[in-house]
Amino acid sequence: MKTNAAVLKQMGRPAPYAASKPLVIEELELDGPGPREVLVQIAAAGLCHSDLSVINGSRPWPLPLVLGHEAAGIVRDIGPDVDDLKPGDHVVFSYVPVCGRCSMCVSGRGNLCEHGRAANVAGTLLRGTRRFRRQDGTLLNHHLGVSGFSEYTVAARESLVRVDDDIPLEIAVLFGCAVMTGVGAVVNTAKVAPGTPVAVFGLGGVGLSAVMGARAAGAWPIIAVDTVDSKLELAKCCGASHTILPRLDDPVAAIKDLTHGGAETAFEAVGHAKVLAQSYAATRRGGKTVAIGLPHPDQQLSLQAVSITAEERQLVGSYMGSCVPPRDVPRFMNLYRAGMLPVEKLKSRELALAQVNEGFDALDRGEVARQVIRFHA
Ligand SMILES: [Zn+2]
Ligand SMILES: [Zn+2]
Repeated sequence: MKTNAAVLKQMGRPAPYAASKPLVIEELELDGPGPREVLVQIAAAGLCHSDLSVINGSRPWPLPLVLGHEAAGIVRDIGPDVDDLKPGDHVVFSYVPVCGRCSMCVSGRGNLCEHGRAANVAGTLLRGTRRFRRQDGTLLNHHLGVSGFSEYTVAARESLVRVDDDIPLEIAVLFGCAVMTGVGAVVNTAKVAPGTPVAVFGLGGVGLSAVMGARAAGAWPIIAVDTVDSKLELAKCCGASHTILPRLDDPVAAIKDLTHGGAETAFEAVGHAKVLAQSYAATRRGGKTVAIGLPHPDQQLSLQAVSITAEERQLVGSYMGSCVPPRDVPRFMNLYRAGMLPVEKLKSRELALAQVNEGFDALDRGEVARQVIRFHA
């Protein structure tokens, strides 16, 4: 079948992207689903900062690539051996396919699935296949098993979480990356305890989700830090008790002051080593720093080594919120239903597929939280 999709041909094209057009909308041929694969009509796909990192080359994947890793849609066809999904089911994509059998999966760490990681690095679906083709027969790579910037996509069963249809797909989509990554970092990676102070650095879709997760976990105070004024207002709507604009206040001193010694848990959702060091400095003795953002691979982190031992400080990484998607997406959706995760506040605006390059310009300028491409599913 045919599908219109946003294809990344070359990394490192300069902003503004509306002019340099790193993403080109192409009409592609999409092969039907193979064994344990599913054809999904995409209803909505979010623009995430880590897509931007692929576009600008700081997180390289094999090209040409059908981009997009946060998506939700409707099952239209199933391949052989898919016995637990049917046409019409609503699904949210997981950007790590979770095989369920490797040593990571069996120890409850599906976000680190070894087979899923290998497929993502290779630009294929979980079993090594590629399903997008140009007219001349060239195969295109899949982005993290999702390739959401396309009217239709084929995904491994293990990349999909079936969800109830009471939550509209244009909201459900946000659970695929922003909510799983941000809320998961709070409740899975850090296991934030009620009544403990939290700081969140960087208020994009993921950072704001961490703020919401901290509120749902009962943290207090919840201190949100960003260089853009409007994001601080949004953070308050998402549950932040205090906000800091680094231009006006030294965030480390301000957090130590507000928490009488430092945050119990600090989250870094910017993806910069300097901000990670700042987050670490903003924790109290015995505190925990959680790295969520993805810094450029060339960046090195410098910390006072003795503080790790003598002050029992912890620095931990959180990839996809340490989530097992079939366990955590329904769980986080229940928090949304209970009114404890106002996920709709993450949405800045909706776009058409053809506006994808402009959307990345807005994201690059830091003006927006989550923009969502809407399709006609
Ligand atoms: Zn993402
Ligand atoms: Zn696995």
